[in-house]
Amino acid sequence: MRKLIFAVILFFVLIFTLPIFLLKPNKIAINSGDDYEKYITAGSSSFTIKVYDAQLRRAIDLDLEEYVLGVLAGEMPASFHLEALKAQCVAARTYTVKRLKALGGKGCLNHPEADVCTESTHCQAYRDPKLLSTENLQKLSYAIENTKGEVIVYQDSLIDAVFHSTSGGRTENSEDVWQAKLPYLRGVVSDFERHSPKLTSTIQIKISEFASNIKKLDSSLKLDTKKLSGEMKILERSSGGRIISMKIGNKTFKGERVRTALGLNSANFSYAIKGDSIVFNVSGNGHGIGLSQYGADGMAQQGHQYKDILTHYYSDVEIINVYDFYGDSNK
Ligand SMILES: [Zn+2]
Repeated sequence: MRKLIFAVILFFVLIFTLPIFLLKPNKIAINSGDDYEKYITAGSSSFTIKVYDAQLRRAIDLDLEEYVLGVLAGEMPASFHLEALKAQCVAARTYTVKRLKALGGKGCLNHPEADVCTESTHCQAYRDPKLLSTENLQKLSYAIENTKGEVIVYQDSLIDAVFHSTSGGRTENSEDVWQAKLPYLRGVVSDFERHSPKLTSTIQIKISEFASNIKKLDSSLKLDTKKLSGEMKILERSSGGRIISMKIGNKTFKGERVRTALGLNSANFSYAIKGDSIVFNVSGNGHGIGLSQYGADGMAQQGHQYKDILTHYYSDVEIINVYDFYGDSNK
């Protein structure tokens, strides 16, 4: 019934947006050799999206599946298990389709002329698939082909399919790191990340450097660096272990802000003062919300399929095919 309502809504959206979607021929002209032609042709769709290319400094038109292939190349090592690559494809495609202005998405807020940009610090990382070796291109293209059009929905709405490198053992509830409480972004165990090079990390920072970096967060900070152990206190940790808030001097800071200011891999850290330095022991890498990429690779190595991986990291979701609603010239 929910799917029927969704289909009806999409039908009306389609009526108004049909002219925006360009029907593509079966073959996409790309000057990059036979391998690329062969694989991108099989994975091509009927969606054309506007991508702001940070290197070219302008927006270009790309086929949705071709763009997702570049995101896959930019966001996940090609050496990862095929099922993890497929999970990453579906997450990246969902992230992208949710932003398409033609479907009511907000587009890229940094580049209003585009749906998404290639800046990893803003939208999603992107690597030109033409730079991949033939072997890696085949593997990644296979992942695209075999998840073609698939996106993740929660109660018939596209989810914000966020992902990160390594949770550190447990992912986070969205509201513990960001403001919004999203029902599908719940903290879950992430058992199979032990092969992540950033599962734990240690960083030593001079107290003077620490003080100046924290002061950049709030210029009215008063901090006695000679009595630092009494000046710092962790106030609250999330269920996933990340610091929600901590006291430094006369101020209270969010853990994420401290993490960013100090360049730590995650907000899940402990610290010890040693001489004129502070040593931070950090667990995990990234914000910890949604799909853990190393966790996905670990689950895949344990024999889990990509849909199992996605429904583990995103709670109560379904996977649907976006082309079932919008049509695909290549079917
Ligand atoms: Zn962007």
